[in-house]
Amino acid sequence: MAGSLSQALAPLVATVSDPEVVFSYTTDWTGRFTGHADVVVRPESTEQVVATVQVCLAAGAKIQIQGGNTGLVGGSVPPTKSDYAVCLVSTKSLTSIIDFDEISGHITVGAGVTLGQVQDLVRAKGWDFAVDLAARESATVGGLVATNAGGIRVCAFGMTKRSVVGIEMVLADGRVMSNLKSPLKDNTGYAVEDIAIGAEGTLGIITAVKLKLIRPVAETTLYLIPAKSMKSALETLTKVQSSGHQLLAAECVDAVSMQLILDHANFRPLWNEIPKLTLLIEVAGQNVDLELPADALGSSEPAAKRNYWQYREVASDTWTALGKVHKLDVSVAISDLAEFDLSLHNLLSSFKGVELFGAFGHLADGNLHIEFVGPAIDDFAVDYAVLKLVAEFNGSISAEHGIGRAKREYLSLTRPALDIEIGRQIKSVFDPTGLFNPGVLYAD
Ligand SMILES: Cc1cc2nc3c(=O)[nH]c(=O)nc-3n(C[C@H](O)[C@H](O)[C@H](O)COP(=O)(O)OP(=O)(O)OC[C@H]3O[C@@H](n4cnc5c(N)ncnc54)[C@H](O)[C@@H]3O)c2cc1C
Repeated sequence: MAGSLSQALAPLVATVSDPEVVFSYTTDWTGRFTGHADVVVRPESTEQVVATVQVCLAAGAKIQIQGGNTGLVGGSVPPTKSDYAVCLVSTKSLTSIIDFDEISGHITVGAGVTLGQVQDLVRAKGWDFAVDLAARESATVGGLVATNAGGIRVCAFGMTKRSVVGIEMVLADGRVMSNLKSPLKDNTGYAVEDIAIGAEGTLGIITAVKLKLIRPVAETTLYLIPAKSMKSALETLTKVQSSGHQLLAAECVDAVSMQLILDHANFRPLWNEIPKLTLLIEVAGQNVDLELPADALGSSEPAAKRNYWQYREVASDTWTALGKVHKLDVSVAISDLAEFDLSLHNLLSSFKGVELFGAFGHLADGNLHIEFVGPAIDDFAVDYAVLKLVAEFNGSISAEHGIGRAKREYLSLTRPALDIEIGRQIKSVFDPTGLFNPGVLYAD
């Protein structure tokens, strides 16, 4: 079956057969998830995506969709074992710049264009793209939309969905759904294409996206601020928010994560002692004076700001480098964050098997990335306990990374049964045979 699937696809679309290269597609960014694909294809146009879908449908094979493979929940790689053939469709070659309307501030690009490429392109023309995250050089526009990615500027500009004007998506029967040509204001019934945002590739293959741009904030001031607790970090944030200066980012890194960053990335310590929390707060304006602790470090100088941001941006990969790390991405109401943080600390300390734990994340969104090592990578007892705690705080078990394969068993902790039932009905309308991303978001 695998051989005949490859043979049927080869005349229609570029296929990858070198086992080492195939392995790089079937293993995720963190190395925690590895699956099996019978064939990897790299379509260069929507027509080639349609042809791939039609061949897979006829052959009874399933499709695993992949963008930049930077996802952190195992949703970008196929399952380890399956009783069907799997075709991995990489969107990385869908790289066309379809249209750049510099008057409206809209850019339409192929799904495989990376976030970094969009940023470079639009910044050269006096625009900016509101979404930003550390994996910018690999994460694709299709992946950002499929995961409704968040990142470091959500507190100022919202999640990816706020920047999406139009989507082109290949459906499970090979038809192409598109509202790329629709205007920004278009209240003509259900926003059908928007269903692709955050659907994690379970409803179709996004082939192109029209993005709404913003005007860049030319001058900013970034502060690194030591805080002795989550409570005092939130007090600092409130002060900055009420200062009248536009908040562009408010991030935090705890002491354990900062120690790892200093050790592994070989960065210089910021202060004599690592504080309980290091805050990164960026506001609009040049050399903005804020009421902050005396030992806060600040700069409006671009090179210094880039250097400061590194302390936060390497956090995820620094934990990943430890190997066999458990990664959670949770959110609670900001007003509950200090209490949640204390409960989390007590909970993780109570597990003897947890050798090291820490957190960093998006303070102003109530979003913490919790990392720990110790338990075997397939032992989820601690993960479950943490997610149950999140549910007790009425939080979300996945603030921005999605559900993927990693969190699907826990979805019902924070999503009502009715939501899940309607979600499954939507899946069966778009994808009645379960062609796309089987096992992602919902169990097969
Ligand atoms: C260092 C680092 C930092 C990160 N920081 C953040 C952060 O701050 N905020 C955040 O939200 N995420 C963050 N992420 C996670 C990740 O970068 C995002 O989820 C990103 O949106 C994934 O894009 P991708 O192209 O790599 O998608 P992939 O990882 O390839 O895929 C992710 C999911 O989207 C689906 N998908 C991908 N492309 C398409 C398509 N064209 N059509 C349909 N479905 C598709 C896949 O099937 C999969 O389910 C980070 C990751 C890393 C490694």
